[in-house]
Amino acid sequence: MHENAVFRDLVSILGEAHVARNVPMKAYTSIRTGGPARFFAEPDTIEKVLELLQYLRDKSITHYIMGNGTNLLFPDSGYDGVVIRIGNKISRITLEGNQITAQAGASLAAVSARAMEASLEGLEFASGIPGTIGGAVTMNAGAYGGEMSQVVKETLCVDEQGKLLRLKDQEHGFGYRKSRIQTDALVVLETTMVLRPGEQMEIRNRMADFNSRRREKQPLNLPSAGSVFKRPEGFYAGQLIQECGLKGHTIGGAQVSDKHCGFIVNLGNATSQDVLDLIKLVRKTVYEKTGVLLEPEVRIIGGDL
Ligand SMILES: Cc1cc2nc3c(=O)[nH]c(=O)nc-3n(C[C@H](O)[C@H](O)[C@H](O)COP(=O)(O)OP(=O)(O)OC[C@H]3O[C@@H](n4cnc5c(N)ncnc54)[C@H](O)[C@@H]3O)c2cc1C
Repeated sequence: MHENAVFRDLVSILGEAHVARNVPMKAYTSIRTGGPARFFAEPDTIEKVLELLQYLRDKSITHYIMGNGTNLLFPDSGYDGVVIRIGNKISRITLEGNQITAQAGASLAAVSARAMEASLEGLEFASGIPGTIGGAVTMNAGAYGGEMSQVVKETLCVDEQGKLLRLKDQEHGFGYRKSRIQTDALVVLETTMVLRPGEQMEIRNRMADFNSRRREKQPLNLPSAGSVFKRPEGFYAGQLIQECGLKGHTIGGAQVSDKHCGFIVNLGNATSQDVLDLIKLVRKTVYEKTGVLLEPEVRIIGGDL
């Protein structure tokens, strides 16, 4: 289908302010790499997400769903399709008793702050994770002993055929940094979490403690995509990488952080290829020296290792 015709259709579905062409993904990813998306769409209602997905399905147009882009590596050549960002335009948060319901684009920081204000505990672990609810449910994000699977009760999603599903409890298929959302290519629209009544000051203090531990241990002053690798059973990826002598190792503008070896940071002019080359080098070196094969946690779009 002709590019101009697709653009016109996208504008008529979403409105002019919500579609753009040739948008550099480095502007929307926390690691600040990635070439242009042919089309970039930011719907502002769930109904528009559904309408857009229906259109893309009907026309067989390739698309990719993103949240806050904090776990993503787009190719330098860009993305030849429609990147759909479900972010702060779809981010309503509502509270009912011990339950908090958030639209997919709500940030974890905002949702955990709302929980704290309502003296509800259980989401403190998430307050410093820089993603959205949609990204966090998809990734079963976690930290400091907590993870989304412990609080998520129900998720409204849409499947590849456009059917709405309400996943309940075990139906989310949560595992370590994975969920059924990934395996079944679902799109998260809204999630309900069940929390417990707690002491507001204690909740606030726990959040502050986790966040100060983050600032102390993680290279938050430089662009990154968080922990590059999943935690291998019985080890810590960062420790293995450090023990293999890779601390500070640099390829182009990408560096194994000298503050936390589990992170790859962008020193300023890194390309996704630099990051990928460094990921490959780290994997190979760690495997040869320790026998442990590190699996990436970052989502590498359009490629594999
Ligand atoms: C400094 C830093 C610290 C971090 N610390 C942690 C941590 O402690 N623990 C942790 O688990 N992660 C951490 N991360 C990684 C990242 O923040 C999490 O994985 C987060 O959940 C990703 O959310 P996102 O909105 O940015 O998703 P994105 O990066 O945009 O997307 C991640 C995946 O989710 C999918 N996705 C996003 N939204 C939707 C949706 N609505 N429906 C369907 N699929 C969707 C995407 O297709 C992609 O596969 C960190 C990252 C950074 C940069």
